[in-house]
Amino acid sequence: MPIRQLAPDVAAKIAAGEVVERPASVVKELIENSIDAGATQIRVDLTHGGLQLIRITDNGSGIPVDELPLALTRHATSKVADIDDLENIRSLGFRGEALASIAAVAEVSLVSRPRGSEQGAQISAQSGQISDATVAASPEGTTITVRNLFSAVPARLKFIKSRNTEVSHCHHLLEQYALAYPEIRFNVFSEGRQIFSTPGDGQLASVLVEVYGLQIAEQMVQVQGDEQPEDPAYPVITGYTSRPTAYKSNRQHISFFVNRRWVLSRMLTSAVEGAYHSLLLTGRHPIAVINIQIDPSVLDVNVHPAKTEIRFLKERRVYASILRAVRAALLEEPEMPHWDPKQ
Ligand code: ADP
Ligand code: MG
Repeated sequence: MPIRQLAPDVAAKIAAGEVVERPASVVKELIENSIDAGATQIRVDLTHGGLQLIRITDNGSGIPVDELPLALTRHATSKVADIDDLENIRSLGFRGEALASIAAVAEVSLVSRPRGSEQGAQISAQSGQISDATVAASPEGTTITVRNLFSAVPARLKFIKSRNTEVSHCHHLLEQYALAYPEIRFNVFSEGRQIFSTPGDGQLASVLVEVYGLQIAEQMVQVQGDEQPEDPAYPVITGYTSRPTAYKSNRQHISFFVNRRWVLSRMLTSAVEGAYHSLLLTGRHPIAVINIQIDPSVLDVNVHPAKTEIRFLKERRVYASILRAVRAALLEEPEMPHWDPKQ
């Protein structure tokens, strides 16, 4: 075949694949937008594992009517203005492509009313075609509805697992965001039935109870690293980690939030597991929620469109800080048997 320029809608669908892999990726992007908009309440509705419908309702800042078309346009964002801003990202979003990507592979409708504004408006997009914005009744905040995800992308639909698998991916993801944002009240429904909720009282311990149950939550100890505010490259570590009496059979219950962004990292996981050296038998893994606060200038979050991968400028320092903070939390616990690190 000769080289040809792809039609814009084909190019958009291909690019969307990097951001939108499955229903949980849509939920992730929409939740992040709600959090960036300062929402204190977020409701999630899923139908058929999110393939038929994903609806996110927030009470955040809302979108002014004249900006609605831009919200659905690729590379349009209110969070980053120039390349220097990438050095200092404090919002979860910054690429300005999530809503456009979702609109390339699903039907999207968006209803919003900015805080303090008299009137709401709505806009929709189908196969990348954006409608005109029209006046619509709306509470303050934003509701985004995503229907028939991937119905026009059979190559992707083929890889989607059962409805239950997709629901459990969404559920796991929402638990992570709830752990990162205890001050936000989450309400999650699947097929109209509530499957997860948090009180939004600002207490990480309350969310731990919702996610892991009282029995495990009671066996978790607080992690509080020593603060080193003079050097911005030093991370501040806080969170909770399980006593060795509570454990899981895999590593999926060790969660990390870097500047409140949920990230996946083998390096961070091995730092936590390292702190349990000789305390947990092989095949047993701790439950932990670790918050890492670090100067954004020593962090690169622009590694992958899904933004769950990050790079630290001083990786070993972060590793050592986590190991030390978790170990200290375990050793300070009065009920713990004494543990000699030289053994
Ligand atoms: P990004 O989050 O990277 O800026 P998105 O495509 O996710 O890109 O969103 C585009 C823009 O739409 C955001 O910059 C924001 O201004 C606006 N927006 C999206 N969702 C919401 C929401 N729930 N509340 C308020 N504004 C929103
Ligand atoms: Mg976004």
